[in-house]
Amino acid sequence: MDSTFDPNQSAAFSAAPEVQPLLAKELTGDLRCARCQYNLRGLSIRARCPECGMSIRGTILAKVDPHASELQPIYFPRLTALGLVVWPLAAILAAACLWWLRASEMAARASPSWVGDGAVLFTLLSGLGAVALIKPHAQIAADGIARAAIGVLLYLPLALAFHIVINRMDSIAPTPFVALGQLSTERSAVRLICDLLMMVLLACLRPNARLFVHRSMLLRSGKVDRQTMLAMVGALAVIAVGDLAHLFGARAAGGIEQIAQVLGTVLIAVGSMFLTIGMVGVLVDIFRILPAVLSAPVSLESVTDGEFSGSMLSTSSSRVP
Ligand SMILES: [Zn+2]
Repeated sequence: MDSTFDPNQSAAFSAAPEVQPLLAKELTGDLRCARCQYNLRGLSIRARCPECGMSIRGTILAKVDPHASELQPIYFPRLTALGLVVWPLAAILAAACLWWLRASEMAARASPSWVGDGAVLFTLLSGLGAVALIKPHAQIAADGIARAAIGVLLYLPLALAFHIVINRMDSIAPTPFVALGQLSTERSAVRLICDLLMMVLLACLRPNARLFVHRSMLLRSGKVDRQTMLAMVGALAVIAVGDLAHLFGARAAGGIEQIAQVLGTVLIAVGSMFLTIGMVGVLVDIFRILPAVLSAPVSLESVTDGEFSGSMLSTSSSRVP
C-alpha cells in the first residue's frame, strides 16, 4: 500500500466547503468516458455521459490520477513497454524449455537439441528486457538505478551457469531427478549458484519494478498488488533447500542418500512450479501496468484548466468500491 494515500487527510478535503462549487465546473480538456469512450469535453462535471449515462464524476474517479503531476514522464514509453513484457515472457519461455527437458527425460525420450540452448538464450533475452527497469524516467534514486543495473548484469553469469548444467553436465550423465540418475556434488553446487543468482537479481530489480506499480492507479491502490516478486524469492529459497539436500546427499551414503535425493527432488519440483507461476503472475501484472506506461497519466489539471487541486480527488478515488 502506498503511504502517500491517507484516507483521513482526504476526508478533510472533501469536507472543505470551497470544494462544492468546483464540482459544477466544465471539462475543458479531453476526457473519454470510462464506459463508452465518448469524449466528455465541454460537459459539466455533475452531468452524465450523453451516450451511455455513466456519471462523469465516475469517469473522473476511474481515469484521473490524483498523483499524475508527481509521476515522471517515461523517456521511451514503447521501448520500455516492450522491455517490460519481454522480461517475464522470455523467463517463462526459458522455464518452459527447462520443464520440456525434464519431461522428456522422465518420459525417456530425447528432446530436440535446441531446447537446452533455448533455455539459455531466453534467459539472456529476459535480462535484455530487464534493461527497461534500469532508468525508465528521471528522478530515480541512484541506488535504485545501480541495483537494477547489477540485477541485469547478473543474467550473464546465470545464463552461463544454466549452460554449464544443461549443455555440459546433463549431456554426460542423467540428472538426479530420474531413477537412474546419481546425485552430483558439482551439479548441485552450480544449481545452488543459479538459485542464489536468481534470488539476488530479483531483489535487485524489485525496487525499480515497484516504480511501475506506483504508476498504475489500479495497482497502487493495493487491489491487485500481490508482491509476486517476493513470493518468487521464497520459491527460490525452497529450490535452494532442495539443492542443499542433494548436495548433502551426494556426500552421504546408503539410506540417507536416497532420502536426501527424494526430499531434494520434491522441494525442487514444488519450488520450480511456484517460481514458474510467479513468472506468469509478473507477466499478468505487467499487462495491467502497460496502459500507465504507454500513455501519460491523466491529471485533473489537464481536463479542468488547472482550477482543481489534485488532492481533492485523491480521497474519493481511494474510496471507490
Ligand atoms: Zn459513456
